Amino acid sequence: MQQEAGRAGALLTIDLKALRANYRYLQNRLGIAQCGAAVKADAYGLGAIPVSKALVAEGCRHLFVAQLEEAISLRAHIPRDTNIYVMHGSPVGYEAEFIEYGCTPVLNSLDQITAWRKLAQERNQALPAIIQIDTGMARMGLSQAEVMAWLRDFSITDGIDLTYVMSHLACAEDQLDPMNAMQLQAFQNLLKTLRQRYVGLQASFSNSSGIFLGPDYHFDLARPGAALYGVAPVAGQESPMKSVVQLQGRIIQTREIPMGASVGYSKTWRATQPSRIATVSVGYADGWLRSLSNCGVAHIAGNEVPMVGNVSMDTITLNVSHVDPHLLYPGALVDLICPDNTVDQVAKQAGTIGYEILTSLGPRYQRHYIDA
Ligand SMILES: *Cc1c(COP(=O)(O)O)cnc(C)c1O
Repeated sequence: MQQEAGRAGALLTIDLKALRANYRYLQNRLGIAQCGAAVKADAYGLGAIPVSKALVAEGCRHLFVAQLEEAISLRAHIPRDTNIYVMHGSPVGYEAEFIEYGCTPVLNSLDQITAWRKLAQERNQALPAIIQIDTGMARMGLSQAEVMAWLRDFSITDGIDLTYVMSHLACAEDQLDPMNAMQLQAFQNLLKTLRQRYVGLQASFSNSSGIFLGPDYHFDLARPGAALYGVAPVAGQESPMKSVVQLQGRIIQTREIPMGASVGYSKTWRATQPSRIATVSVGYADGWLRSLSNCGVAHIAGNEVPMVGNVSMDTITLNVSHVDPHLLYPGALVDLICPDNTVDQVAKQAGTIGYEILTSLGPRYQRHYIDA
């Protein structure tokens, strides 16, 4: 293990204790509403299996993935009393696999509802499902016209055990955006109508940021992802979430360059004075985005150093002219994601969001999980 870690070009440390603390924080904030978890896309790149196991140990009973394939590979590791929901619903013709693997579809169209109902009738068995409604994002779920059709003919859900109706917020991280209240209103109105027919019907509405919009947004079940993994849930506010991910690269070599020398592909950075450059073994093939070229930073024993030149496939270059040379030996660790340079800060430098930084984390990193 020690030797392997020494051999690896970069180390990715995932703190499952911090993850569990974040889950407890959100569950506490939700009060009596339940806290589920979005573990799609390999739990945002952190590892769906270890992350899901840690969340289940913390009491989570509702896991959300995007695709059936993800649910199938997760199912073998997760106790049956924990639901795994597939947010894209069933691929056409694969409905029976949901029963085989004990997963629950989120039905997003009348066609998906019809196929699920047909299977329920063939099996003569009530089959659980969530139905998703589009309340304004125009991405997934029943359109307004489809909802009207449903309200005219409730028999379309015969044989379906409708466990939740859900919708998704488009702008929840911006607490001032009026779209939040508009979507809430649309969802509440629909829920009121549906509950006349489906007595006690439960609802799921909020992602991470939605939880912070207040209790009206909580309903019965929330589906946070990003905040669990340490991404700040509210734009412009200090984050209450603990950081979960730490990324460290290693120095391969250093060199002295004269004033006027350029660094890296396309010579996008030029030394305005004699400089010392360190080359570190992380590149865009590892998900260290090329858009960080000349705007990212790293930390060496607490010293902030700028990335200079373009990000290469396997390496970045740092201007370490002001760092004690004793810290700059081959194999020395350089902090790329750390408390001084959080996922959100890296995202800002790269011109993207923390979600994309996490889901880009590459397969070459030596992964290490800190357990509870
Ligand atoms: C990804 C996703 C979530 C989780 O969103 P976060 O912003 O990461 O909390 C919840 N619901 C749906 C429908 C999603 O697609």
